[in-house]
Amino acid sequence: MCERSFDGNHGRLAQLGNRVLAGGSIDRSEASWLFELEASADIFDLLSWANRIREHFKGNKIHLCSIVNAKAGACSENCSFCAQSSFHQTGSPRYGFVDPEPVQEAAEEANRHGVTALGLVAAWKGLKEGPMLDEVCQRIEELSQGGKVRADASLGIIKSQAVADRLKQAGLECYGHNLESSKRFFPSHCTTHTYEERIETIGYLKKAGLKICSGGIIGLGETREDRCDLALALREIGANVVPINILNPVKGTPFENNPPLPPMEILKTIACFRFILPRQEIMIAGGRTINLRDLQSMIFMAGASALMVGNYLTTLNQSVEKDLQMLKDLGLDPDWDKHDFEDQDTVTEPEPIEFRKRRVETVVA
Ligand code: SF4
Repeated sequence: MCERSFDGNHGRLAQLGNRVLAGGSIDRSEASWLFELEASADIFDLLSWANRIREHFKGNKIHLCSIVNAKAGACSENCSFCAQSSFHQTGSPRYGFVDPEPVQEAAEEANRHGVTALGLVAAWKGLKEGPMLDEVCQRIEELSQGGKVRADASLGIIKSQAVADRLKQAGLECYGHNLESSKRFFPSHCTTHTYEERIETIGYLKKAGLKICSGGIIGLGETREDRCDLALALREIGANVVPINILNPVKGTPFENNPPLPPMEILKTIACFRFILPRQEIMIAGGRTINLRDLQSMIFMAGASALMVGNYLTTLNQSVEKDLQMLKDLGLDPDWDKHDFEDQDTVTEPEPIEFRKRRVETVVA
């Protein structure tokens, strides 16, 4: 039997993991150290701690979300990763804001698969007061009153409290608004609006009482420090759901030739997010199938607690049935039927640190 001492990287990981399990947090230099881990033994160690943090704070429940593209293409913004920007020639579909039927059909399909939430996603800069806001609120009311799924939406930048309040009154529960990347890196992929406008939007949404779904996209050419800063910013703004997208380069976009991130780097990033955001829903969204390949099911060991299912806005995902089978095979429960986020406030007592330490020693012996 081999013995391993609790010193070096292994010991430091155990120290940080135990602190997070006990309800504490890690600071920037500690988070940055996690992102810089390179050796596969250290990354596996990190994943096992992230898995325990997920289990402790989220149990074995996996939250499933899906989206419907409520207005597609011809977007005025120049996000370099996006097929829907009017700045890029991608051949992506274009249509105006949808009628009630496609939304109801998407809600029924989501409900059939046990999906908790359906987000209406619109490819435009943002939403102002006026007839379009009335139409959007109408769709949200129909979705919310249908009672089949939680009504979510991702409708871009908001410039006034009145708009956020209207959305809340219409029955919206959660608003998706990614920070996308770090404040430093943001202008490298978008110059038609600013990181600060995104933060300001989130302020209006929170004041309206909406839950916040905000994360980002990795693989744009950002550094590990940028990913670390993104996760810390998401902690600071109090995101409830944190989607992590992985670039799936689309032909015709400025990032079409970006090299893919190695799967272990992706898993490590998810695990680091779990350390920084222990109680949040960490949701793996676009790009998971193509980038992770055979390692896809390891996202849960890396700390993910939610999954975007169904097809994404402009790229295809594996089938919902296949995702559900993956969860079943892992012994994870997709039946996350709560329509609120109370599990981010109430947490069971952690097991005593000494007991956990013994368990880890047994595992590595
Ligand atoms: S990411 Fe959103 S805002 Fe940016 S181009 Fe695409 S649809 Fe427009």
